Amino acid sequence: MQILVIGAGVIGLAVARTAARAGHDVTVAEMTGGIANGVSSRNSEVVHAGLYYPTGSLRARHCVRGRRMLYEFCAGHGVGHRKCGKLVVATDAAELGKVEAIRKQGEANGVEDLEMIGGNAARALEPELSCIGALASPQSGIVDSHGFMRALWGELEDNGGMIAFETPVERISYRAPRWQVRFGGRDAGTLDFDAVVNSAGLGAQSLARRIDGYPADQVPRLVLAKGNYFSYAGRPVFSRLIYPTPVDGGLGVHVTLDLAGRMRFGPDVEWIKEESYGIDATRADGFYARIRSYWPRLPDGTLVPDYCGIRPKLTGPGEPAADFMIAGPPAHGLPRLVNLFGIESPGLTASLSIAEDVVHYLA
Ligand SMILES: Cc1cc2nc3c(=O)[nH]c(=O)nc-3n(C[C@H](O)[C@H](O)[C@H](O)COP(=O)(O)OP(=O)(O)OC[C@H]3O[C@@H](n4cnc5c(N)ncnc54)[C@H](O)[C@@H]3O)c2cc1C
Repeated sequence: MQILVIGAGVIGLAVARTAARAGHDVTVAEMTGGIANGVSSRNSEVVHAGLYYPTGSLRARHCVRGRRMLYEFCAGHGVGHRKCGKLVVATDAAELGKVEAIRKQGEANGVEDLEMIGGNAARALEPELSCIGALASPQSGIVDSHGFMRALWGELEDNGGMIAFETPVERISYRAPRWQVRFGGRDAGTLDFDAVVNSAGLGAQSLARRIDGYPADQVPRLVLAKGNYFSYAGRPVFSRLIYPTPVDGGLGVHVTLDLAGRMRFGPDVEWIKEESYGIDATRADGFYARIRSYWPRLPDGTLVPDYCGIRPKLTGPGEPAADFMIAGPPAHGLPRLVNLFGIESPGLTASLSIAEDVVHYLA
């Protein structure tokens, strides 16, 4: 098949690479001038184990399977990664109950090697940490997400696929038996494809509304939840990922590490109406308070605004978190078309697994 994949973020690249390896003729249309210019370059680069998501949900299934696939891919392609492990910490008795519930959820999801440890055992691992207990998740880690995406792009090209940059998709119509797609940008025009995948991230809903005949009630709403990060201007004190108990809309302001060992904190949850990437430096006050609940010795004046990302959510404040929405032909009745909505965290971890299901849908 000739397949068009829209968007060169981690999901589009993973789908395109998987489809090309399966023998399809794949083109990726990306409206910007490079890969990973959207959500995929603005995240924590954490390889999630699969702890939090309801058993049987797409997030649980693709996170656990995708994590295993991602580590294997990174090992096989020389992509930087480190299975540094993670502690989900409880700072009082109420949080201990929540952390224990996360352990049970993780085990039900098939996450390996989980263990509850006491405060002293946690401090033996991370001496700066203050907590009364923690869930240790040795399978959690970090990845060089850009290295990963470059490797996906390389495999796509090795298998005959290509990316057309500065090529926004404007309109899609089904003209049996093929999809007619109108492009703008550098090489504006119309081309036909056998199959189309909409992995446009924050633009997925807007694009779905420009697919002629696509049922309007099958386009979910898009809710934007910005996550701000602050970097730490001092010597790193933790060697594992440290997470508090989750909050409404996110996993809580956590310690993330990059492969050079540098520490940063985030993301928080800021519900916004329109895309914007400025960071309000006064949000640091809230960060100090939250981080000091598990790292009381965080020195004053050490948090520096870093970057932010925007979660493409399907539900808003106070509402239950939505699952990934992978809308293939059974959902909308149109042939060889898949729309991906709400691919927020753990989308990076889950990407290779999501890609397998998407390609399966197109067959
Ligand atoms: C703050 C934050 C932290 C996160 N942390 C983690 C984490 O630690 N671990 C993890 O596993 N996941 C994490 N995630 C989730 C992960 O980053 C996303 O799930 C993933 O990057 C989504 O990738 P994508 O390809 O769907 O979207 P994107 O990367 O946004 O790619 C979509 C692409 O489509 C292009 N596009 C849009 N419209 C069009 C059009 N009409 N025509 C052509 N191109 C178009 C855009 O330019 C963009 O390049 C986090 C997300 C956020 C926001």
